[in-house]
Amino acid sequence: MPLCLDTPLAEFGPISAKRAETLEKAGVATVEDLLRIPPMRYEDRTNFKQIRDLQVDEEAVLQGSVAAVGSYTSSVKRFSIFEIRLSDGSGQLPVKFFNQRFLEKQLTVGKQLVLYGSAKFDEYSGRLAMMNPEYEIVAQAGGESVHAGRIVPVYRKLGALGAKAQRQMIFQALESLSQEGEDPLPPEAVSKYGFPPRMESFRRLHFPACPDTRPRAEFMQELAQRRDPSQLRFLYEELYGFQVGLQLVRDDRDRLSKKRKVVIDDAVRQVMRQVLPFRLTAAQERVLEEIVADLSRPQVMSRLLQGDVGSGKTIVAALAMLAMAENGCQSALMAPTEILAEQHFKSLTGLLGGKTDHGIELLTGSVKAKARREARERIAQGRSRLAVGTHALIQGGVEFQELGLAIIDEQHRFGVAQRSELMAKGDRPDVLVMTATPIPRSLALTVYGDLDLSVIDELPPGRKPVQTLLQTEKRRPKVYEALRRQLAQGRQIYIVYPLVEESEKVDLKAASDMARRMSQEVFPDFALGLLHGRLKGAEKDQLMSAFAAGEIRVLVATTVIEVGIDVPNATVMVIENAERFGLSQLHQLRGRVGRGAEASYCILMVSGSVTRESFERLQTMRRTCDGFEIAEKDLEIRGPGDFAGTRQSGLPEFRFANIARDRRWLELARSDARDFVRDRRQAADPESGRSLQRIAEAWQRRYGLLEVG
Ligand code: ADP
Ligand code: MG
Repeated sequence: MPLCLDTPLAEFGPISAKRAETLEKAGVATVEDLLRIPPMRYEDRTNFKQIRDLQVDEEAVLQGSVAAVGSYTSSVKRFSIFEIRLSDGSGQLPVKFFNQRFLEKQLTVGKQLVLYGSAKFDEYSGRLAMMNPEYEIVAQAGGESVHAGRIVPVYRKLGALGAKAQRQMIFQALESLSQEGEDPLPPEAVSKYGFPPRMESFRRLHFPACPDTRPRAEFMQELAQRRDPSQLRFLYEELYGFQVGLQLVRDDRDRLSKKRKVVIDDAVRQVMRQVLPFRLTAAQERVLEEIVADLSRPQVMSRLLQGDVGSGKTIVAALAMLAMAENGCQSALMAPTEILAEQHFKSLTGLLGGKTDHGIELLTGSVKAKARREARERIAQGRSRLAVGTHALIQGGVEFQELGLAIIDEQHRFGVAQRSELMAKGDRPDVLVMTATPIPRSLALTVYGDLDLSVIDELPPGRKPVQTLLQTEKRRPKVYEALRRQLAQGRQIYIVYPLVEESEKVDLKAASDMARRMSQEVFPDFALGLLHGRLKGAEKDQLMSAFAAGEIRVLVATTVIEVGIDVPNATVMVIENAERFGLSQLHQLRGRVGRGAEASYCILMVSGSVTRESFERLQTMRRTCDGFEIAEKDLEIRGPGDFAGTRQSGLPEFRFANIARDRRWLELARSDARDFVRDRRQAADPESGRSLQRIAEAWQRRYGLLEVG
């Protein structure tokens, strides 16, 4: 049977059954999977030398035959040495292999070899010798070599398989492949970017050859920077395939139209203007228009609203809910915690209460059973048009009369299942998910690529940026003095300790000791609360409410303080061991202050050792308060794999593409994918339909695309 790209490796002769199994465990099941292993780097092994001309420390390729062999044991360190003498007509060179006795059987006298390594000055013989070079037995003198005499790929270890074994298998697969196979890229893209045909790209990716006309150094550098057309092809293939998958998810959704008719006319706009307690920022206006336009369209809205902490997402959500209510539709706003739900409920009643009669309900675990039952009834009958709550909104048989808009705050705190449960409460409701965790655009396009993106990139006027200071242990007394001054002026303070899971107990003890010491010695005349991970949800909420009400003045926390909590009177955020926090966490914490009229401070206490990365993080915090700039920096420092919560959010594991580095390609792939799906849909012939279906299935398999929103 001819070898094809989709042949399982178990059926490829040169690969043993055992090896095929190892590979499959590492996610390499077919010939194509094997060829899609990206070289980590390349080595130029074309420096052919005669033994006579070898220089000390020179990396060179030698060709010759085994003239003599011998084994012995080093007397000093007791390791075995297998030594051969290589002869190439110009001279002879001793070559030593340490602790590789098995070579005795392979490298026998008369065998033709190609060696690649560095010639060293041998202290024992006073002559040149090679130690542990890469070797290859070739059929006859001058025979073709896989591992030397060319630019060779070097791969990351795959299970127990080293680079040489992988190179060998890939070489053999390329030799044996007979057909072109189907190109997953449309011909337009291939010609637009000048990619080589797919088969040629595979060959070039693994065994690139420098054209005679080009300087080698330049060619090698291009490979190192991943700018060779074959490398770019596979990088683009990945991004494009993923984006096509996302576009198909979108497209499926767009073809279902909703039954309700929502009109945002002057009368509705008038009501929206009347309730406004302040002027919207330009960014809020723009985002509101995007949402309102979606609400009045027949297609279902799936929109992600990003805005830094304090950028004013709530008012935008409230106005969207109001617009729906004016159209006789119900809206639900779901928050991850009771305290946030209550805060939203308060803002909504403050905003709309008395000015409209739409009815606003709060549904959380701590609302009493009777009140909850009554609220559910009013929602079911459509007497109340706005519902705010925690996941209590989707539990206990809450029925809406006609849910038109589902809003999810701090969406990363919810699972996909909870989102879809909320959506199932209505007949294709419009969906708005909000997040205060700024995500770099490239990441948003990947992780949330099937959602439309709205960004509030501006803070309400009059906000003073939080002053960020870095302090060391030596300055602790001064820091406490400053804190006391703030407290004396009536302000409130957060003090946050890092919590490392492995040492939870130790850290908790350190924090409680610190809290006790502080309330006894440092701030004896101010009420202090300790918030930690062992507390029950209700206890935490109680503490937070007491802090919000000003009954507690200093809040010591070992757990990350609730995102979105709004206590304008808190003006200082002290972060202990700030060097241990990640950038996005630091930024989230700092966002708890600077919400009122008073000047605010973020004090980064540094007590441990500061690595290069932690210094970079701290510097970034000092330099900027812009969440998006911080997110970009975070992505750069950590790389996409580790970026805040993206693993759970379904960031695919790309092999070739790096979304931090390849932003430009990501944008290109995205717009190409959009055009492709639109054109094929418009063609509407059965073949186009089938080809879309095939692509969709392929990418679903590879990336397990989830349905977001
Ligand atoms: P977030 O985006 O973090 O959810 P909020 O919606 O809680 O932010 O808004 C933070 C604070 O800013 C609130 O007190 C809110 O009333 C206020 N705010 C929002 N928009 C404006 C604006 N355009 N002008 C003045 N204050 C605003
Ligand atoms: Mg919020």
